[in-house]
Amino acid sequence: MLLMKERVNDLLLALAGKSRVYVPARMTTSVPSVASAAPASTAASAPAVASAPTAATAASASADTSPAATASVSPAAQVLSRFELYRPGTQPAFDLVNTTLPPKDMLFPQTQKMYRYGIDAEGNAYVDAIHDADEVVVFGLRSCDARSIECMDDVFCTKGYGDEFYEQRRARLTTVAIGCTEVAETCFCDSMGLDPTTAPAADIQLHRTADNSAYLVQAQTEKGGAFLKTWAQYFDEAADAAPVAKVECTLKVNSSDLKEKLEALFEHPLWEQLSKKCITCGTCTYVCPTCHCFDISQENRMKDGERFRCWDSCMFSSYTEMAGNHNPRPDKMSRVRQRFMHKLCFFEDRYGKQLCVGCGRCIEKCPVALDITLLIDSVQALSLDSPSTSSVIPSQAKDPSASERNDSSPTAQNDGLANSGNEEGAVHVAG
Ligand code: SF4
Ligand code: SF4
Repeated sequence: MLLMKERVNDLLLALAGKSRVYVPARMTTSVPSVASAAPASTAASAPAVASAPTAATAASASADTSPAATASVSPAAQVLSRFELYRPGTQPAFDLVNTTLPPKDMLFPQTQKMYRYGIDAEGNAYVDAIHDADEVVVFGLRSCDARSIECMDDVFCTKGYGDEFYEQRRARLTTVAIGCTEVAETCFCDSMGLDPTTAPAADIQLHRTADNSAYLVQAQTEKGGAFLKTWAQYFDEAADAAPVAKVECTLKVNSSDLKEKLEALFEHPLWEQLSKKCITCGTCTYVCPTCHCFDISQENRMKDGERFRCWDSCMFSSYTEMAGNHNPRPDKMSRVRQRFMHKLCFFEDRYGKQLCVGCGRCIEKCPVALDITLLIDSVQALSLDSPSTSSVIPSQAKDPSASERNDSSPTAQNDGLANSGNEEGAVHVAG
């Protein structure tokens, strides 16, 4: 089946009449960058969208010639991207390599009301769960983000535990993936067992045709088949159209046997050295499509109230703080270690897959250039028989592009935090 490019907006408009439809879109913000405006003391609390523009985002900005974008971009503003609700006039950015923010909030909103409770007019106590009843279509998902939904499904829907708020949204979600035709310098999904051109778990897969005139369309689930039947009038017969050539990530890591190595390295001095440069801002967890920590709170009024949950971050000390001030992860080292161990070891133990999908967002946005691929390289370079850190952790970035990527982080260059990781001259993850 074929979806001609000139029919995409017609299909999206029709879909938007029945469901909430989200598409990748450029957005602008006037939030000043960490490097240009925030003093070091406030950079730690800066949100993900406030990090400095990189080559990739700058390229996106320069390629965006829409009047809205060119009119509002100032030197202190950046063009970022995320999945946005499609409305008439929305310009989907299917040309983007990857969105700045992942689509996880469609299933796991940053703030989500869960229950209303109180005492009714008859004096009876009530607790009502709050559910979103809309059908949702996410159109233009990439392989990494489709895999991230599989990881979230594992967490929220398996092992005898079903999160009703997630499950209800998941049941009403249809995913339409588009195979990547370009990769960013920070993408490494194919090293994590994915294929940038195909998202097997998506309901529908689109592949751009070689002549760039259309998408080849394929249903991959029952839900996807029903979707294509419902909207059949927007699709044509495929005839003999050929898909565009497959792409491959240029950033590579060796992710084999990582779990076993990391298990053996839990007490290794690597973690202490690695964590020195981290400013525990939490940016990496907020831009990560698979991070799913949350905190539950409530707003109490006189006779009623609401309970809600908000994204949290394992990089914050308060995340594990317990009554009586006990904290099982009291220092930065234990939190940094937890994040990487969870991504590359603990999750695989529990669910049989790694929790890093190689999207590269944390590499792109970490203000001190703490790069998960360089951590993986360092771990792979360690000899388990040789406990000496300085002899087993490489002192140089693995390739020119990685070195350039980290060196070009403005914060890494100018605030001194990046250098703190190198005080002992051993950890190269600082770039
Ligand atoms: S690793 Fe980077 S992005 Fe994550 S908390 Fe530390 S400084 Fe922030
Ligand atoms: S850890 Fe980094 S590269 Fe891996 S999925 Fe999360 S944001 Fe993407």
